[in-house]
Amino acid sequence: MTKKRLVLTFPPKLLDEPVTYHLIKDYDLMVNILRANVTPDEEGRLVIELSGERSAIDKGIKYLSGLGVKIQPVAQDVKWHKEKCDHCTACIPICPTQALFLDRKTMTVSFDNKKCIMCGLCIPVCPYKAIEILF
Ligand code: SF4
Ligand code: SF4
Repeated sequence: MTKKRLVLTFPPKLLDEPVTYHLIKDYDLMVNILRANVTPDEEGRLVIELSGERSAIDKGIKYLSGLGVKIQPVAQDVKWHKEKCDHCTACIPICPTQALFLDRKTMTVSFDNKKCIMCGLCIPVCPYKAIEILF
């Protein structure tokens, strides 16, 4: 039995697709959804853990990829560099767990490491490279 944690990004046209049903039924995989959200630009994001035979996981990933789902591995560690952060808030709507959050009184952004699931979704949106991801 192998386990793999992945971040899946679905284009809007795939939001109604019963993807997890197919992974379970057609590929004999266990699917544990760790986080799910829809971004402001209507992309769907799922952080999932797949469990099953390695070959079944590979086939399931191939199925997702063929559908047009973007697949990223979950990171090992995420570091927020406070000194680089400009508090622009670009990462706030992207973060599925509110690990990056805004204090509305001070209008400053902070990072709660305990809430971070290391999905890496904040990395491409930060214009100041204040978030570092280690795979
Ligand atoms: S990697 Fe970034 S977006 Fe993902 S949970 Fe951690 S802080 Fe939030
Ligand atoms: S996107 Fe980067 S600079 Fe902007 S608030 Fe988030 S961590 Fe700070």
